[in-house]
Amino acid sequence: MGELRLPLGDYRETVHLCRLCGNCRQAGTTYLPCCPAGERFGFDEYYSRGKAIIAGQLLKGSLAWSRSLAEVVYRCAVCGACVEQCPVSYKDYILDVFAALREECVERSLVPREVGDFLENVYKYGNPWAEPRQKRGLWAEGTGIGEYERGEDFLYYVGCMGSFDTRGIEMARALGEVLLASGLSFGILGSGETCEGNEVKLLGERGLFEILAGENIRRFTGLGVKRVVTLSPHAYNAMKNEYPAYGGNFEVKHYTQLLVEMVVDGRIDLSKGVEARVTYHDSCFLGRYNQEYEAPRKILRSIPGVELVEMERNRENSFCCGGGGGNFYTDFFGSEPNSPARIRVREALDTGADILAVACPVCLTMLDDAAKAEGTEGGMRVMDISEILASLVLPERGSS
Ligand code: SF4
Ligand code: SF4
Repeated sequence: MGELRLPLGDYRETVHLCRLCGNCRQAGTTYLPCCPAGERFGFDEYYSRGKAIIAGQLLKGSLAWSRSLAEVVYRCAVCGACVEQCPVSYKDYILDVFAALREECVERSLVPREVGDFLENVYKYGNPWAEPRQKRGLWAEGTGIGEYERGEDFLYYVGCMGSFDTRGIEMARALGEVLLASGLSFGILGSGETCEGNEVKLLGERGLFEILAGENIRRFTGLGVKRVVTLSPHAYNAMKNEYPAYGGNFEVKHYTQLLVEMVVDGRIDLSKGVEARVTYHDSCFLGRYNQEYEAPRKILRSIPGVELVEMERNRENSFCCGGGGGNFYTDFFGSEPNSPARIRVREALDTGADILAVACPVCLTMLDDAAKAEGTEGGMRVMDISEILASLVLPERGSS
């Protein structure tokens, strides 16, 4: 057996930078709760402060590693809200400490069963649901979207949610069809696509992440890909921020960043418009992780008839849907009334919005399910921005 790596040891000095002030419980400007894990489970150990205490005690040896401790470590959406609120230099280490705790759980074979299943399925099948690899491109059948050919402007990277999740597939098709209608030169990988690994890394399996990153970078490079547009902010985050360290230097855009350019230069005609009050939910991986707050809002403001209204928690103070860090699969936050997604849907309902708009397949599925649980049928709809645009640009979709 190889020697056990101890990633947490790198943070022996830094965990003590946490002042235990508790600022990571609420958003600074609104004083509203900001931590979905803390709101869902109620105890201090689920907030960033509690995990700093846990890490410090593990390093001192006054707390032992166990399965129940791993259950706490994994009940976190890695949404970064605590980082945003932390007033001291510990903020620069919070996500690294979470990652080290999880990497040690993997090394010590303590991961919860759901996390183990996620990682094993991604390793074997390239997606968390153990779907056959050859089914990966089926979502595009009948759309006219073709496989990427050398020289095309963009590789459209769809990801696991867009390939296999019911709402994710609807979103992937909507965006693909809008891009086709715009005349953009692009293609997909189809059955040749595999997971980008963003959640794999966040779940503590760095070795598997490096395998996936290497595989994707080799494939993109072999095809001569220069520019990638992603459906998901999660893939955008991994490819933009992590892949360069492994030699993957592609120009990466989230789809809202590409669409906003096309709206501004007139390649997408939104003149049909829609009379609707719309509120926008920031994805953590587009917003807090990558500071992209404006592109989605600018697209929505460009639609004639749209009245954009903000939820009380927005931009850097946005409240996570609870799907980050693999929770869309592990479902650790459940669907109870105090689950993050249902809290967020109620916040959106408070704005009087007709449409709760998102820009992420994870947010779309989490909030759509939560809206059904809140009984919003016939009222507020949860739609991805790509779906709103598809209803304006594609005549056959109409405004339904
Ligand atoms: S993580 Fe930051 S905000 Fe939270 S208790 Fe520690 S110092 Fe305070
Ligand atoms: S990353 Fe999000 S869920 Fe995790 S402790 Fe911080 S605020 Fe809470």
